[in-house]
Amino acid sequence: MRVNVSDIVKTEGAGIDVNYYGDLSGLREFDNSVDFKPSFKFTGRIVNLGGLLKLSGELHFEFVADCLRCLERIETVMDIEVKEVFVEVIDSDEADAYIYEGNVVDIEKPLIDNILLAMPTKIICSDDCKGLCKHCGANLNFKNCNCDESKIVDSRMEILKDFFK
Ligand SMILES: [Zn+2]
Ligand SMILES: [Zn+2]
Repeated sequence: MRVNVSDIVKTEGAGIDVNYYGDLSGLREFDNSVDFKPSFKFTGRIVNLGGLLKLSGELHFEFVADCLRCLERIETVMDIEVKEVFVEVIDSDEADAYIYEGNVVDIEKPLIDNILLAMPTKIICSDDCKGLCKHCGANLNFKNCNCDESKIVDSRMEILKDFFK
């Protein structure tokens, strides 16, 4: 979304409300197991503070992904806070700021960047997800399988014995 900021660039303290529904359907390559809900929502404001344009607001998005441990599909709703700074292209040596040109601020890239940064590195359905049994594949959150733990230990010892032969 391109926001025309010509009304606020000359006036310290002036601001514009921004309400935006964006599209994430192009973001599939992020991770094959993650499906973003196509639309995301941003509600916020761009304010002129000392010649810098500050974008702030709430970003809402949702995705579906497999739990890393038990492989169940889980829906996750994310509400994150966005705070970014734009500088005009002539002042673009400012680090950590996005650039705008010709009184137009494009908020698309910073919003997508914020979404990608907010994505959890490990997607799990809950902190105490028990995962799958390594032997029979049962989802241990729902049932206890009868795989014999002692057998498992034995077979590991067998492997070690072979290894040291
Ligand atoms: Zn899980
Ligand atoms: Zn099992």
